Amino acid sequence: MGETLFTNVKIIDGEGGAPVAGEVLVSGNRIKTVARDGDSIDAPDAERIDGEGRTLMPGLVEAHAHISFCNTASLEALGDLPPEEHTLETMKFARVMLDQGFTSIFSAAAAKPRLDVVIRNAIDAGDIVGPRMRAASPEMTPTAGLGDVRLRHMHRETFAIPCDGADEFLKCAREMVREGVDTLKINPSGDEFIPFARAHETVMNEAEVAAVCEVGRSRQINVACHARSAESVKMCLRQGANVLYHCTLSDEEALDMLEAEKDRVFVAPTIGMAHITGQGEGKDYGIDYDHPVALFFRLEGEKGVENMKELKKRGVRVLPGGDYGFAWNPIGTNARDMEHFVNLLDFTPLEAITAATKFGGQLMQMDVGLVKEGFLADLLLVDGDPSKDVSILQDADRLAAIMKDGAFHKTPGAAAGAGSIAAE
Ligand SMILES: [Zn+2]
Repeated sequence: MGETLFTNVKIIDGEGGAPVAGEVLVSGNRIKTVARDGDSIDAPDAERIDGEGRTLMPGLVEAHAHISFCNTASLEALGDLPPEEHTLETMKFARVMLDQGFTSIFSAAAAKPRLDVVIRNAIDAGDIVGPRMRAASPEMTPTAGLGDVRLRHMHRETFAIPCDGADEFLKCAREMVREGVDTLKINPSGDEFIPFARAHETVMNEAEVAAVCEVGRSRQINVACHARSAESVKMCLRQGANVLYHCTLSDEEALDMLEAEKDRVFVAPTIGMAHITGQGEGKDYGIDYDHPVALFFRLEGEKGVENMKELKKRGVRVLPGGDYGFAWNPIGTNARDMEHFVNLLDFTPLEAITAATKFGGQLMQMDVGLVKEGFLADLLLVDGDPSKDVSILQDADRLAAIMKDGAFHKTPGAAAGAGSIAAE
């Protein structure tokens, strides 16, 4: 792999500063040199890309990805998909994420045990096209928890594996380690669309959470928690989980505990799904503005917005990532979360970009998320200035180029995928 020199670009490096004019040299799969304030880079052998004044920024990171949720409108329909079709569908959605400028995704659960692992491995091997991935297990959930769709008289499945008691959680977590996941996912709280496990209810007990966290700790892998209730947040923090999703109903003590661990933990509120459901965008699927679930989401959302503003103020890393993977919140529209952060959580566009890039890279535990010398070359060339209007990142046509690992997924002036493996 040779060298690529981006000239005549405005650089948003992901650290939070305003765009600056400059040049960036990529050598192999890493960023070799960043020149700012009109300095130029001498690289006579590099392929030169004239940015024509566009913005060059880090590729986006999705902190709560569900590429195997297939934009389903019902949890049971997801379970009905056979593994073979499901794998092909997931492969398709991995590509969709990269087409939309997400060069890394941190999975917040796979819908079957090996889906994320197989897709991650195939991407890494260069067999299929997609972003860098942290692969997750399905959601380990207790009987009568979020994702337990069984009926008394029949077996049914969705994105969860029901477990009861510390021993079953322990065994399931170890099996997932054996299958190669990077992240163990648990559902210690309920959710507003589950009548028997609401968001404020804590449905796993401490021993069950501890069992999974022990596996995470001993195997050095992530434990990510669906934690809406205040008690579930505290329980997961006490046991050492590092990725806290939602945290919407945190109380003062939970906020204090999150602040105390701000250098270790990541919070992603998944505001996208909750917000638009509350606003009635699920109406074509039976959840209109007046539906009780929409009302519950609005009430939870109010508290969640208040809490996220507070966590940001206290220096906790709050990341975009909005549970994209359902019919009215489809995969590929993930960049909308940054607009929600600006409109609802009082982030500036640059703060939202930093959350989706720098903090995202830290969540991935990879050298990604910054335009910085030595970092992996995951870059977007954007038509326009997202530091003024972050919503332009939702429009794939504004992504003039997408580079992952030093290679163009979308070459400047070409359609997405030109030059990529699948197009060859
Ligand atoms: Zn989720």
